[in-house]
Amino acid sequence: MRRVCVFCGSSAGTHAAHVEAVARLGHEIATRGIELVFGGGAVGLMGVVANAALAAGGHVIGVIPHAMMARELAHRSLPDLRVVASMHERKAMMADLSDGFVAAPGGFGTFEELCEAVTWTQLGLHRKRCGLLNIDGFYDPLLALMQRASDDGFIRPASLDILVNDVDPARLLDRLGEPIRVAEPIWLRDLEET
Ligand code: AMP
Repeated sequence: MRRVCVFCGSSAGTHAAHVEAVARLGHEIATRGIELVFGGGAVGLMGVVANAALAAGGHVIGVIPHAMMARELAHRSLPDLRVVASMHERKAMMADLSDGFVAAPGGFGTFEELCEAVTWTQLGLHRKRCGLLNIDGFYDPLLALMQRASDDGFIRPASLDILVNDVDPARLLDRLGEPIRVAEPIWLRDLEET
């Protein structure tokens, strides 16, 4: 795995455990020689993961929309900061650059980025795994909702396999490299059959 994209909160949250875990994730990515792709902000957990990777000698690529630069929230000491026109361009570039995705704790922005990345794998637009850094069971309610959606026939069991989750950053990165069972764009195939 050459590059990993990390989605996480633009806030640091209220639990030190989240900050510590995201810092360990950034450090672990860098010490494995994997490049970090992230949203380019200096704030919140985004800044924590980037600074941890930089401190460990890693290469960090920030992708930020121009409007967020203007608000001076960009991580200005990044050697590789790519400025794009819109949030849509940002997500497309982050996806193109990366071989897999990790969602650490965050809010709506993080959930949205995670769900888009999983959906694109499900559709066969790319074949990249997504991981949840599940500190203190942060993502347990979302995993329960996904299981419920699968039980109720809205998510195929094979699509659930796109996601891995772990409390430990190193194990999560190991699992992110495992092959995905979804072998073809299943939803598009279904459309063709009807
Ligand atoms: P959230 O999980 O709701 O905090 O959203 C995280 C997302 O917020 C990021 O991936 C960005 O899309 C956006 N965002 C908010 N503030 C910033 C910032 N200063 N720099 C870059 N992205 C930001």
